[in-house]
Amino acid sequence: MIPYGRQIISDDDIAAVAAILRSDFLTQGPVGPRFEQAVAERVGANHAVAVNSATSALHIACLALGLGPGDLLWTSPITFVASANCGRYCGADVDFVDIEPETFNICPSALAAKLEAAAWAGRLPKVIVAVHMCGQSPDMVRIADLARAHGVRLIEDASHAIGADFMGGPVGGCTYSDITVFSFHPVKIITTAEGGMALTNDPELAARMERLRSHGITREPDLMTHAPDGPWYYQQLELGWNYRMTEMQAALGLSQLGQLDAFVARRRELAARYDDALADLALRRPGRQAGACSAWHLYVIRLDDRTRHRGVFEALRAGGIGVNLHYIPVHLQPYYRELGFGSGDFPVAEDYYARAISIPLHAGLTDDEQSSVVDAISQALST
Ligand SMILES: *Cc1c(COP(=O)(O)O)cnc(C)c1O
Repeated sequence: MIPYGRQIISDDDIAAVAAILRSDFLTQGPVGPRFEQAVAERVGANHAVAVNSATSALHIACLALGLGPGDLLWTSPITFVASANCGRYCGADVDFVDIEPETFNICPSALAAKLEAAAWAGRLPKVIVAVHMCGQSPDMVRIADLARAHGVRLIEDASHAIGADFMGGPVGGCTYSDITVFSFHPVKIITTAEGGMALTNDPELAARMERLRSHGITREPDLMTHAPDGPWYYQQLELGWNYRMTEMQAALGLSQLGQLDAFVARRRELAARYDDALADLALRRPGRQAGACSAWHLYVIRLDDRTRHRGVFEALRAGGIGVNLHYIPVHLQPYYRELGFGSGDFPVAEDYYARAISIPLHAGLTDDEQSSVVDAISQALST
C-alpha cells in the first residue's frame, strides 16, 4: 500500500533523540525552548509555546483568548474535529461557516454574511478558527478584516501548513491572527511523533499559554499574590493542564525542522506533477488561493461524478493506493448532530464530502509511486 502520508526519519533524527535519552533531562530541559525559538525564528513570530499536540495548542489558545461558557467559536466544517472541539473544551458553543468550493477553506463571503447576521442578532463569536486546509492559507486578509471589524479574535489552525507562505511571508508569523497553531503528528509536514505548537506576537498571550500548559503554575515572583515563601516556592494562579512536550519530542522536532524546506519543496514538486498528470481526467484538482503558496500536506481530488465516489475510493484501496478522505464534515459527526446540527446545514462542505479523495502525497513519495497512483486513478475512472 502506498500511504497517503508518511514521516521521514533520518539517522540524524534518531541520533538527536538518542542523545536526549542519555542526557539529564527527558522533559523540561533546554531543548524544548531551543525548538520553540527555532520555529519562532523560522516563521517570524515573537513567541512559541510547544505542547504535546496541536489539539492541546488549540485548547490553550482558546483559553488564553478568554473563550468560556456562553461564548461562541466558529470554524470550518471541513477540518479535523479538533478545530471545533477546542471550543467545547472551554464550555463554549460551536458553529460553522461553509467552505469555498475550490480551496476547501472557510468562505470569506459566507463568513461576512454570517457575521453581519450575528451582529444583528447580538450573538457574535468570540473566536474564529481559520483552518489552512491541505496546507494552503485561506484568504487571511479578508478574514482578518472581518474579524477586526466585528471585534472577533482569530486563531489560525495551520496544523497542515508549517512551511507554507501567504502574501510573501511565512504562515505562523501571526500577521493576520492572534495565535497560529502547528501540528507535528507524523502525517503532517514535520513530526515530533505527537506534538504541537502555538505561536503569537503577544507576550501576554504567550505567558498565559505557557502557564496553562503546565498546571496554571508560575515561578515568576512578580505574578504571585505575595512574596515567595522561599526558593522552593511556586504558585498555581489558575486551572491548567499538563500539556508539555518532552525533550525527546523537541529534539526530534528541532532535527526535523532542518529538513522542512526540503520536505515542502518535494511536496510542491509532487503537487505540480499531479496537476499535470491529472489534468484530463473526470475530476477537479485543488484550486489555488491568491497570495498563498501551500505546504501541500494533502492533495485532494474531487470526482465530477458523485455516484462514482465510493466505488473509485474502494478500487484505489484495493489496488494498493492508500487513499483517504479529509474530512467527514464535522457538523455531521454524531457528537455535533447531538448538539443540533444536521445534513443540509453546510451544503458546499457536504458536496465536497461526496466527491473528495486524498491521494498519496508525502516527501518520501517516489516519481514511480506517483505514476502508479495516477495510473490507478485513471483506470478506476475509466472502468
Ligand atoms: C492534525 C490536526 C489537528 C490535531 O493535531 P494533533 O497534533 O494530532 O492534535 C488539528 N487540526 C487539524 C486541521 C489537523 O489536521
